[in-house]
Amino acid sequence: MKIIKTLALFVLICIVLISCYPSLLNRSGTEQPTIGQDINEADDNDTNDVNDNDSDKVENNDNNENDKDNNKDETNDEDNEDNEEQEIDPREQIDLTLKPNEIGQVMVLMYHSIGQVEAEWRRTPENLRKDLVTLYENGYRAISLKDFVNNNIDVEAGYTPVVITFDDGHKDNFNILMDNDELIIASDCAIGIMEEFKKEYPDFNITATFFLNGSVPFRQEELVEYKLNWLIENGYDIGNHTLNHNSMKGVTDPNAMQKYIGGQANFLESFLDGYEVNTYALCNGERPHKEYYKYLAEGSYENKSYKNIAILEVGWDPSVSPVDKRFDPLGIHRVRASETNVDGVGMYNWLKAFDKGTRLRYISDGNPNVITIPEKYADRLDDEKVKDKLLYIYE
Ligand SMILES: [Zn+2]
Repeated sequence: MKIIKTLALFVLICIVLISCYPSLLNRSGTEQPTIGQDINEADDNDTNDVNDNDSDKVENNDNNENDKDNNKDETNDEDNEDNEEQEIDPREQIDLTLKPNEIGQVMVLMYHSIGQVEAEWRRTPENLRKDLVTLYENGYRAISLKDFVNNNIDVEAGYTPVVITFDDGHKDNFNILMDNDELIIASDCAIGIMEEFKKEYPDFNITATFFLNGSVPFRQEELVEYKLNWLIENGYDIGNHTLNHNSMKGVTDPNAMQKYIGGQANFLESFLDGYEVNTYALCNGERPHKEYYKYLAEGSYENKSYKNIAILEVGWDPSVSPVDKRFDPLGIHRVRASETNVDGVGMYNWLKAFDKGTRLRYISDGNPNVITIPEKYADRLDDEKVKDKLLYIYE
């Protein structure tokens, strides 16, 4: 009998303890979220080993996770402000050991033809491949021109963005071979090389903008519509290079200027459903007199208006950052991706200058919504260009 009584008492105590347990949990839970966050941060810093060696700590971790969830459920409805306060500031997650510097400079590479004999305006397929591998191995990652001018730079922390462009719409930029009615992209044209590179180096995120002039871009008349749509569907961009490769030097007729630019935008857009051709590379890098610059940026032709978000020079040096005071989206410098007659200002010269530090290299903080800049370069910043992004200046 005595044993039965003792057992009954023990069971009773157990029931009381179990029923009290959740409220005990909750009470300790009110102070847990901060601890939980600290532990999460530690995880990010690869201190898992320390936790593994300490079994008590690991157990606590699990409890904290549960408590955090309980706490979340309770406070969700009551107090959203509290939750916002508990969110981690993304600036705290920036890895400063990578020396992010988003006021540094970015190369906007300019290619023309891709063909068998290397020349001033022609790169061989082998050399284009070499350029891409060199960029990849030296910590560069591709972004689109539109993302660059919109300051929407999404590159892994510690890496440098690079923009790739091709002018003139040569057939060797995008050449299609017909094989028993099957369309095959030639392996030695720019697209063929970049698509092959994409498979081997997917994290380079390769993309490029093709500046197209004339009525048969890429020189295969029956494939114009197919090629233009293929480019957009596969993550490339199409830019304006005027109706007839028109230089603007000395042009003083606003109607002519709007025809050259607006006419080509209308023509290219007529093949594309909803895609806006709103970037423009100056032919030969030549501009009209200053008072006509406005027609390069905006105008209309045959009742259709155009507004360019970027105008590219033929260029000689890396572009300043889109948040730099000197950044002008309507006058973006380009770098010649070539080794012939580059007069010391080709892509390979600038790669060296970035390495030596004679030019300031853009280093991403890994978060496209935060602009991270070392304090010593903060005077170069145009606050207004930061727009809705978070600014993080560090010593
Ligand atoms: Zn051109």
